[in-house]
Amino acid sequence: MTQKVVVVGAGVVGAACAFHAASAGMDVTVVDRGPVGGGTTSRGEGNVLLSDKEPGPELDLARLSRALWDEAAGELGPDTLEFEPKGGLVVASTAEGLAELRAFAARQEAAGVRAEPVDRVHDLEPHLAPGVPGGVLYPQDAQVQPVLAAAALLRAAVRHGARFRNGEVAAGVTGPDGRITGVRTAAGGVLPADAVVNAAGTWGGEVGRRLGAPVEVLPRRGFVLVTEPLPPMVRHKVYSADYVANVASSDAGLETSCVVEGTRGGTVLIGASRERVGFDTTMNPAVVARLAAQACRLFPFLRDVHLIRAYRGFRPYCPDHLPVVGPDPRVPGVFHACGHEGAGIGLAPGTGALVTAHLLGRPWRGADPAAHTGLLPDRFLTSKGASE
Ligand SMILES: Cc1cc2nc3c(=O)[nH]c(=O)nc-3n(C[C@H](O)[C@H](O)[C@H](O)COP(=O)(O)OP(=O)(O)OC[C@H]3O[C@@H](n4cnc5c(N)ncnc54)[C@H](O)[C@@H]3O)c2cc1C
Repeated sequence: MTQKVVVVGAGVVGAACAFHAASAGMDVTVVDRGPVGGGTTSRGEGNVLLSDKEPGPELDLARLSRALWDEAAGELGPDTLEFEPKGGLVVASTAEGLAELRAFAARQEAAGVRAEPVDRVHDLEPHLAPGVPGGVLYPQDAQVQPVLAAAALLRAAVRHGARFRNGEVAAGVTGPDGRITGVRTAAGGVLPADAVVNAAGTWGGEVGRRLGAPVEVLPRRGFVLVTEPLPPMVRHKVYSADYVANVASSDAGLETSCVVEGTRGGTVLIGASRERVGFDTTMNPAVVARLAAQACRLFPFLRDVHLIRAYRGFRPYCPDHLPVVGPDPRVPGVFHACGHEGAGIGLAPGTGALVTAHLLGRPWRGADPAAHTGLLPDRFLTSKGASE
């Protein structure tokens, strides 16, 4: 019998789950209280990075995802996603920083990432500040337009028979054996399901609770700056080596280390700050000024360029900074796919394939559950079965 799957959340992660599950022949319904990609997906920059990830479970998922972005671009058309495999250039500001960056890159290379030391960085990025001692080129780093990517994946899921419904998921419905049998929407209806995928991003903790399977997912605020459109000036994703330490840090205070990249429309994106301030939506001009100053240090031409806007969003993070992907042992039929922090766009296709492999009980498109056990929800559960 065809497996009925309800995916909660139509962000890029939910869309990728729907795409893979529907491609595998499942009967998929995606439900979101808002529009496609209207959550944190519309607040990201679209970096698909291997360069910023330490060897370990997240890099394993990133490598899988990177291969699946190529597949998705081939299947859906690269323009539908604005997929640009432009490569990333990480630069150091001191000789000491460069040695650390190259040692980090060597560990990544041993884990299967392509990383090429570069001495003459200005050959690759002519407008970089003078005096940059060197860097590392990561040819596999890429870029997508996140909302277009979510929409394209969801459209492809619909072509495979999936449905998209608006509505807020209020609760899980379970049978006498404790297995999930559907979800109740705030409007009062019940969507029947053999399995429910929690792809609610920063709200994954709350949706997990409503499904009887809470997980801890918290918001980490970030601002992104957008310049006026320019002729092409920045060729790669360019960022300073400090960025990696900032991403991995558990510091609650403000952290900024900018990533600079051009877009097809000509705007330059400058992202992103990291702060743990709950869901506080206040615009913070000090953060904008700090990011802008860092970007100008990397690319001095930006001093004469206007910013046209700044936007912010809330990255969904788990306490150990790894996404939670896989079946919840407390409620059979509930699968989590959330908590991707600042990498959910890049990690979406791998997550969708991995969730589908869990649903099928066998590997799917290169995703083998046995190879990604570090992402399972079990890691948060105490012996009493509660989420800490
Ligand atoms: C400033 C910033 C920059 C970033 N840059 C990048 C980047 O360059 N590269 C990258 O890979 N990542 C980046 N990220 C992170 C990335 O945006 C997220 O990890 C990713 O978008 C998460 O996608 P998602 O589908 O899990 O969540 P979301 O896009 O938030 O989707 C979750 C959906 O669930 C829905 N929902 C919630 N509760 C319910 C409910 N009860 N019922 C129904 N629907 C519900 C919401 O409406 C929402 O549409 C950035 C984030 C920020 C904030």
